[in-house]
Amino acid sequence: MSEPKPTYRHDYRPPAYRVAHVDLTFELDPAATRVKASLQMERHPECKEGEPLRLDGEQLILKHIAIDGQALESDEYTLDDDGLSVRQPPARFRLDTEVEIAPCDNTALEGLYLSSGMYCTQCEAEGFRRITYYPDRPDVMATYSTTVIGDKAGQPVLLSNGNPVKRGELPDGRHFVTWNDPFPKPSYLFALVAGDLKKVEDRFTTMSGREVTLQIWVEEENLGKTDHAMASLKRAMKWDEETYGREYDLDLFMIVAVNDFNMGAMENKGLNLFNSAAVLTHPDTATDAAFQRVEGIVAHEYFHNWSGNRVTCRDWFQLSLKEGFTVFRDQCFSADVNSAAVKRIEDVAFFRTAQFAEDAGPTAHPVRPDHYIEITNFYTLTIYEKGAEVVRMLYNLMGEEAFRRGSDRYFERFDGQAVTIEDFVDCMAEASGQDLTQFMRWYSQAGTPEIDAYGEYDYANAEYHLTLRQRTPATPDQPEKAPQHIPVRMGLVGTKSGRDLGLSLEGESLGSDGVIHLREAEQTFVFTDVPEAPVPSLLRGFSAPVQLRFPYSREDLAFLLANDSDGFNRWDAGQRLAMLALDDLIAAHRNGVEKVMDPRVVDAFRSLLERGGDDKAVLAEMLTLPSEAYIAEQQPLVDVEAIHAARTFVKQSLAATLRDDFLRLYQENESDEPYAPQPEQIARRSLKNVALGYLMAVEDEEGVELARRQFEADHNMTDVRQALTLLTHSSRDDLAAPALRSFGEKWAHDSLVMDQWFAIQVTRPQTDALDRVRHLMAHPAFSLKNPNKVRALVGTFVNQNRINFHRADGEGYRLLADVVIELNRLNPEIASRLVTPLTRWQRFDEPRQELMRAELERIRAEKLSPNVYEVIEKALA
Ligand code: ZN
Repeated sequence: MSEPKPTYRHDYRPPAYRVAHVDLTFELDPAATRVKASLQMERHPECKEGEPLRLDGEQLILKHIAIDGQALESDEYTLDDDGLSVRQPPARFRLDTEVEIAPCDNTALEGLYLSSGMYCTQCEAEGFRRITYYPDRPDVMATYSTTVIGDKAGQPVLLSNGNPVKRGELPDGRHFVTWNDPFPKPSYLFALVAGDLKKVEDRFTTMSGREVTLQIWVEEENLGKTDHAMASLKRAMKWDEETYGREYDLDLFMIVAVNDFNMGAMENKGLNLFNSAAVLTHPDTATDAAFQRVEGIVAHEYFHNWSGNRVTCRDWFQLSLKEGFTVFRDQCFSADVNSAAVKRIEDVAFFRTAQFAEDAGPTAHPVRPDHYIEITNFYTLTIYEKGAEVVRMLYNLMGEEAFRRGSDRYFERFDGQAVTIEDFVDCMAEASGQDLTQFMRWYSQAGTPEIDAYGEYDYANAEYHLTLRQRTPATPDQPEKAPQHIPVRMGLVGTKSGRDLGLSLEGESLGSDGVIHLREAEQTFVFTDVPEAPVPSLLRGFSAPVQLRFPYSREDLAFLLANDSDGFNRWDAGQRLAMLALDDLIAAHRNGVEKVMDPRVVDAFRSLLERGGDDKAVLAEMLTLPSEAYIAEQQPLVDVEAIHAARTFVKQSLAATLRDDFLRLYQENESDEPYAPQPEQIARRSLKNVALGYLMAVEDEEGVELARRQFEADHNMTDVRQALTLLTHSSRDDLAAPALRSFGEKWAHDSLVMDQWFAIQVTRPQTDALDRVRHLMAHPAFSLKNPNKVRALVGTFVNQNRINFHRADGEGYRLLADVVIELNRLNPEIASRLVTPLTRWQRFDEPRQELMRAELERIRAEKLSPNVYEVIEKALA
């Protein structure tokens, strides 16, 4: 096989031919679906006559091709593995093709495939070319009319984008529906669904008074699990009207739940397709976290109707134009309808763990990449989450009103067009009058900027001098970096008063919570009229996606934890304090020295527990230690065992010393009111379950009893899952085994609950975890063809059970490579995602490096998909 070739951003050329309108007809059949396409085409006025027409097409069997009703002779076109070229088409013409495809053999889940007996599609980014010959690129926008023909018995429901305009009966027990989508769209937003589905229906009246029908389509047994998604959808529609002035544009909005889905969900015009895990909820089957995730994803996909569909991307290098912006929008929505402080803490905790690791590894890339081999490899934390952080910085730089003016301008100016990141930033620059030239580097430079900060109080002159030095480490093909424009929101907290002191910077007053702008490699900021010695509170709210170091003492951090006016930074001070203690303990473990718990951490936790008054949801976050993955991210070289031992030690020491406080906290937050996914209830449950986690860390007798009872009470999945997890991760196999058994039997029929059952077991710290993974891979509920199963069992193990995945004998690596090799054939997109932990080999000790590289080499020896090929080549470069 020839090596897959990269695509470069600078090679972009506008399409030679545009498509005004498409007519599609699908005759569904599992092994031989017929797709007829009729394309109204026009040569671009600036294009020369005789320019060949290039259409993408993969795994299609061409049955017929004609121009203006005239079948093409074999010398008028050429066919190859990834498409078709027509030699000399006229300036305006109708192109008719007919192809045959086999949805039942489609295990990659791109294009048209079968999932639990239902036909569905996934076209972003380049799946449409597996359905028909087409210029499959986002800057070709057309109106679609789609006729779906299926069996009345097997596919009573036939859906596509837009509005249904015609339906009827056909011979042989078949029927059809024709759909019309009046909004021009790129092919990646096309969707089709056909199957035995049931719907839940609701209505929404838009701000201009139009009535929209809302439908959620599911398998019959899931009809009771759609309420939360529907309520979330209506909240999101309202929020987008109020916050961005964006109204829905069709008369019908549909969501479909699909069991086999590569990602979370997809924003196809008027017909959003969802991984069933991202839409179905019920108090008995879904945790609070799942409820919140569903709310966020429903909103995300809905928001794409404007940020993505009405205004789309010119090419896939601009992916963050729609994804970064839409993630920012869904984050703000979730913050508005839930606890804003907790939302930010959760997002940042995740970001600093996972995106920082990506940005520091061999697959690091800018928010706008310069080249790729396989675009599905670029649906990353950098494009999505870092992209959202960049938009958030813009929002904060401009302020709410100017940002809204900029977004209005963007949607108005580019409605119906496929545009670039510059187009978006230009609107923001115009609306705010700011020069964003340097800011654009956030889109072009990969790697996490590191800031070293240093501060000094000058008593004599009542000044505080803050020096910030920035540097961005080299990343693949970017050895040199230029300084970024970094907005640092900050305060100076007076050590006597415990209050924010007014900030006055070279005479200019910034209030008590202000933003300073670091633009140079090094800058010193002199604050005047500082009446008492302060502790600086820096990067409040995580005002920029950077790593900031400051030589805080533990006393400083305990002080900020108690006094900072910024809730986010109070939490962060606690995390930093815990990190200092953890660093000592990691060193002690490595040196074989006895571990001693830092009393300052215990005192800080005790005051958190005693002082009350805090937002319960935030308190739960503050009582949560940094994850092993985050701790690892902060170490120069990852010592998996020392990290695990140190963190366990801190948790047990806190549990032992503060046992009575945790017990009280548990009891105070117990409740038997009926479950509701409401912020106050969620906060109480998380606090209670954090407390239970501490009690179980020392397997306190009463704690074990509480966990057992909480499991048996069977009140809601949040509580049941936490109890079952704690029992399964404890030494009490006598309690865990029967609990796991009864849970597994009770939920054998519910695939999404079985995913949780898998995840709970494979995160066990005990040494048998890896054997359990292999064993569970043979369980009847497991299938390598279902991405949710792969993620729940294998993904959870390799990403969340670090101590066992990184076993010194390399068995964890071997297991992962075995699975990746199989998935490389079945589902390349999932395979190349799953392999990620092996690509981080450089972070570990020599023996592990060798073992991980050996597995990467073993994968490389296979006949690889472009997806896995690209990742492996980068990892071994
Ligand atoms: Zn998205």
